[in-house]
Amino acid sequence: MYRKVGAGIVAALHLIVGEGNVLIGNEKMEPYTHDEVVGLHADPEIVVKAASAEQISEILKLAQQERVPVTPRGAGTGLSGGAVPVCGGIVLSLEKMNRIPEIDRENLMVTVEPGVITGELHRTVEAEGLFYPPDPASLDTCSIGGNIAEGSGGPRAVKYGVTKDYVCSLEAVLPSGEIVTCGRKLVKDVTGYNLTQLLIGSEGTLAVVTKIILRVIPLPKLRVDLLVPFDDFQAAADTVSDIIGRRIVPAAIEFMERDAILASEQFLEKEAPYHDAEAQLLIQLDDNHQEAIDADFEIAGEICLKHGARDVLVAKDRPTRDRMWEVRRQIIPALKFQSPINHMQDLTVPRAKIGMLLKGIKEIARKHSVRIVCFGHAGDGNVHVNTLKDSMPDDRWQSLVPIVVDEEIYGLTLSLGGMLTGEHGIGVTRRRYLPMALDDAQIKILRGIKAVFDPNGILNPGKIFL
Ligand SMILES: Cc1cc2nc3c(=O)[nH]c(=O)nc-3n(C[C@H](O)[C@H](O)[C@H](O)COP(=O)(O)OP(=O)(O)OC[C@H]3O[C@@H](n4cnc5c(N)ncnc54)[C@H](O)[C@@H]3O)c2cc1C
Repeated sequence: MYRKVGAGIVAALHLIVGEGNVLIGNEKMEPYTHDEVVGLHADPEIVVKAASAEQISEILKLAQQERVPVTPRGAGTGLSGGAVPVCGGIVLSLEKMNRIPEIDRENLMVTVEPGVITGELHRTVEAEGLFYPPDPASLDTCSIGGNIAEGSGGPRAVKYGVTKDYVCSLEAVLPSGEIVTCGRKLVKDVTGYNLTQLLIGSEGTLAVVTKIILRVIPLPKLRVDLLVPFDDFQAAADTVSDIIGRRIVPAAIEFMERDAILASEQFLEKEAPYHDAEAQLLIQLDDNHQEAIDADFEIAGEICLKHGARDVLVAKDRPTRDRMWEVRRQIIPALKFQSPINHMQDLTVPRAKIGMLLKGIKEIARKHSVRIVCFGHAGDGNVHVNTLKDSMPDDRWQSLVPIVVDEEIYGLTLSLGGMLTGEHGIGVTRRRYLPMALDDAQIKILRGIKAVFDPNGILNPGKIFL
């Protein structure tokens, strides 16, 4: 179906981006063969680093004419294989488009290029007293373009929402090479179908995003982080639903079970506080008024203690706070380090059902004598569930995954009114489960949308659909 990248295409790409921005047939292409999914690799035929929407337009026109697949790539931290060139062809890297051309203080908007690292955006706007809340745990390594394409979230989603809640406008290049601007620097805009929101979470399959206008808000003046250890896994899980039910809205409520904390501690080679606790909650409160923080702190603390929390450790200064969050942020690489073969799920359920989900997962783990480690954004009903191979024999692992993952964990999640993925996307790794969650009519519409944008299927093929 697709053509190979021949000498003519290589020469044309050299002309578009300059020879120094093309990698072909050398070991420098290795980083572009994978993202952060364990065991998923595919070789691109060529890697091209673009510097502008106009260059990307030329690349896509060429790819269209030659029927060569193009896989957009941000920083390669994805957890569903979205940036992996499973059909070969061109990897289109956005890493050079990493400027923040404007902070508009009057309209509270910031304009960014897709290759900007999310943590860099945070630091830049915070220096102006402004706040861009979405904070994926990978924020020091992922790009804002990748966040848009995946519809990323982060711990602060409990109070502030996710990436899609901050995007006002996107400039994007369609697979035809046309450059479009969806939305404007507007808080309100209902002019036609909402193409901006359609592109968010489209996993690089509909268009390549080249410029983004984001809404920012004033930076809250006060922040307190609490670390709450529990000697009972289920008590920690139930506390989350209880806090939400009591109508206080912390900025974040993260859940970490003991195996996740110990893995992170081992990986970081630093002792984590309360590392012997069965589970911990990391709760962040913020506001502009001390009385409001104090009131929420009192209620949250009281609920935690009622559920049997061993302590409520308060971090008011930056070093203590950073130490607490470092343990949380390193859990994914730490688990990968402990068990290089593992299966990670990104389950999402109604927030009040998080305790039931975690309980059910532990029962599945016990039933199959397999280590399943849970952590994540429990306050939004979104947890990451890692089934670890550890030293299990290969044949047992091969037969276990379809039962534990496909049938039992996804089955439980869907039965609780949940979905397959809250923020990591379908990509390659969850394609086969899509029909479990969406009916035929919905999948037909999704395929129809893809066909309207990309009738020849050149943009990021092999993603979302089988
Ligand atoms: C340790 C760790 C922690 C993580 N924590 C979180 C978390 O808390 N929350 C969360 O949501 N995710 C998390 N992730 C997953 C990942 O970081 C996010 O999905 C992130 O948004 C990916 O960004 P990226 O720049 O690395 O994108 P990539 O991996 O390069 O690409 C991801 C997808 O976006 C597409 N894409 C990239 N740039 C563009 C563009 N400009 N235009 C069109 N398509 C594009 C690619 O084709 C691909 O489909 C974590 C990952 C790791 C490794």
